[in-house]
Amino acid sequence: MKIIVTGGAGFLGSHLCDKLIENGHQVLGIDNLITGSLDNIAHLQNSPDFEFVEANSLDPFPEDLDFDQLYHLASPASPNKNNPKSYMSLPFETMQVNSIGTWSLSEEALKRGAKFLFASTSEVYGDPLEHPQKETYNGNVSTTGPRSVYDESKRFGETIVSSFVRHSKLDGRIVRIFNTYGPRMPDDGRVVIEFVKAALSGKPFPVFGDGTQTRSFCYVSDMVEGIIAAMEKGSSGQIYNLGNPDEFTILSLAQKIKELTNSTSEISFADRLPQDDPKKRCPDIAKAKEKLGWEPKISLEEGLKKLIVYTRL
Ligand code: NAD
Ligand code: UDP
Repeated sequence: MKIIVTGGAGFLGSHLCDKLIENGHQVLGIDNLITGSLDNIAHLQNSPDFEFVEANSLDPFPEDLDFDQLYHLASPASPNKNNPKSYMSLPFETMQVNSIGTWSLSEEALKRGAKFLFASTSEVYGDPLEHPQKETYNGNVSTTGPRSVYDESKRFGETIVSSFVRHSKLDGRIVRIFNTYGPRMPDDGRVVIEFVKAALSGKPFPVFGDGTQTRSFCYVSDMVEGIIAAMEKGSSGQIYNLGNPDEFTILSLAQKIKELTNSTSEISFADRLPQDDPKKRCPDIAKAKEKLGWEPKISLEEGLKKLIVYTRL
């Protein structure tokens, strides 16, 4: 099949391209490199099954571009306001790619009768009042807070896809991705890479708040398999949570990384928790298990060991 991946030079997008090529497909990666990097796809340069176009996902496709599937992953993804690659530093780009971008890409897929997948996020649940989060939970999200440029544009992206499915018969599905980590994570301020960098450089682990907030971390190869399963086995109009349901406090994440790296770094507690930072997060993946036959296989410890080896190189 001919498959397009927007955000193809990003962390998840580049791993998705790798896996799709391995599965025998021809892949076109599209990326404007706003947070991604050509380094992530350098190894694909000579592959006859891969092509890359540097372009904005808001731009229309050439009329003669034909494809069978479109994965829309393009979007900044980090909430760290101190980092220039975060969605807080790129608010307009983030809102546009998840709203206007999702709209025009849905149209492009519809025109060609291609299947469409939108990469949404656990952030649509906001600071959740239901725990763990099921796909049926509608969330607790601020429309105007600092995270809203991401959370609300992903929510609107979901509305767009659902409307194209309902009214135009787009073959579209949504995955809500929970925190994912692994090699090629951008240096964009997200917690796992910040902590690994701190551990390896001997600088303090910058824990925000008291570290009792929780997250559930999924290794990238598991996530990519889930995303592909949602495209191939998932039904049009459906939403699937994808993530690892093992839940950890941020403090225990720091301690685990300290242990695995034999680091001398201290743990520092920086100020209060940032505004609207979810206090707990854990996916209910019963639907993905039942409908996609998918669940993660790699434990946090196993995945962190792989990321640490990669980051040390
Ligand atoms: P990433 O920043 O590595 O990848 C995003 C890619 O999209 C980058 O290469 C960037 O340059 C590209 N991009 C952004 N705007 C673009 C535009 N207008 N046109 C073309 N390219 C554009 O981040 P990631 O972690 O790989 O995230 C990929 C997707 O998964 C995002 O949509 C993100 O919201 C979603 N997601 C990721 C996680 C996670 O933990 N990694 C969690 C939830 C959701
Ligand atoms: N966090 C932290 N130190 C950092 C970066 C993040 O303590 O250097 C915390 C952050 O406040 C949040 C959690 O780690 O509670 C996960 O943050 P991340 O930026 O990875 O993404 P989020 O899950 O909040 O979207």
